[in-house]
Amino acid sequence: MCDLYSRGMHGLRQLIVSVGATLAVMLLCACELTGADQAVAPQDPAPMPPTSSSIRTENSTVPTQHTYSRSGFDVTPLSEARVAELATKLTPEAFRVTQGSGTEPAFCGNLVDNKLHGVYCCVVCGLPLFSSESKFNSGTGWPSFFTPVDAAHVSERVDRTHGMERTEINCARCRSHLGHVFSDGPRPTGLRFCLNSAALTFYEKGSPMPIVSQPIKTETAYFAGGCFWGVEHVFQEAPGVITATSGYMQGSVERPTYEQVCTGKTGHAEAVQVIFDPSVISFRQLLEGFFELHDPTQVNRQGPDSGTQYRSGVFCTDAAQLAQAREFIAKLGASTRFSAPIATQVELAKTFYPAEDYHQDYVQNTGRVCHVGNPWPQVLGATK
Ligand SMILES: [Zn+2]
Repeated sequence: MCDLYSRGMHGLRQLIVSVGATLAVMLLCACELTGADQAVAPQDPAPMPPTSSSIRTENSTVPTQHTYSRSGFDVTPLSEARVAELATKLTPEAFRVTQGSGTEPAFCGNLVDNKLHGVYCCVVCGLPLFSSESKFNSGTGWPSFFTPVDAAHVSERVDRTHGMERTEINCARCRSHLGHVFSDGPRPTGLRFCLNSAALTFYEKGSPMPIVSQPIKTETAYFAGGCFWGVEHVFQEAPGVITATSGYMQGSVERPTYEQVCTGKTGHAEAVQVIFDPSVISFRQLLEGFFELHDPTQVNRQGPDSGTQYRSGVFCTDAAQLAQAREFIAKLGASTRFSAPIATQVELAKTFYPAEDYHQDYVQNTGRVCHVGNPWPQVLGATK
């Protein structure tokens, strides 16, 4: 059972949601009345923090991790088999350097003197690693940079070969050897990333980049299912969900505070913005999870939380989502799963206002026992 406690003038709310015969969800929520707010248009994805989520593979129920970098790339480590497959396409020199921790002779690489503007990607997996913006002439005979394009794209490990201790750098996605990093670089970092040309593929600015060298194309969806704390938490657990953010939307007041929303006069719903990787989880699968985690037949309430801010809603970012949500709900309503009509509001998303900081990651930050269901194994198992 969840422990009960009180925070703020509204005290404690206890929300128990029973869905069907298979899943019971219990959320404990408390209200507070301070904090900043920030308006974000529904079409604008939020900055992407490094994150990871579990996913079930086609042939296994063992979860693996999907990890996304801050700059929007899927940096999930590739399997050894996949790396071996990619490595078959390398030149002998690139294979020797990247797969055998080799070093090309100084002043011999084709990128040492390259002064064109563009991006240097991993020759094996295509992940962008360095930019011409951070390239400098070190005089060493190897391409040198003072910072990678994203810290999460380059991993480091201690290299004690050749009777010395150095820091080896590798591609974070495919583990290919790139070179070493030294602490004698220029400002602002003071670092010198010393690369082998053979480990890199250069793409001049404006030239087409392969898919593997582009950030993932994310989509955004919005769900309201009662108090956003637990809803946010469940979506954060979903494979392929990059961020889930609590906020307010579909109301009539700009930048509402929680206190304003709680009056019931602004028309906002407590909602969760879900930015996801559609190559991992689809909008349809998010819909399925959403209808597992709350009771869509309750009108303007979830459990003991009552008021329009707790209404059930799917707020769509385009006509395709709108059509999918309506079709999904129509089928759900025609089934025998729920004994009462589905009250979920489906409409195009208006401006989403992120809730105050203390509402974000509430379940994770407080460590409070908050029982929420995890519908994702069931959803992915049923629709993969
Ligand atoms: Zn790589």
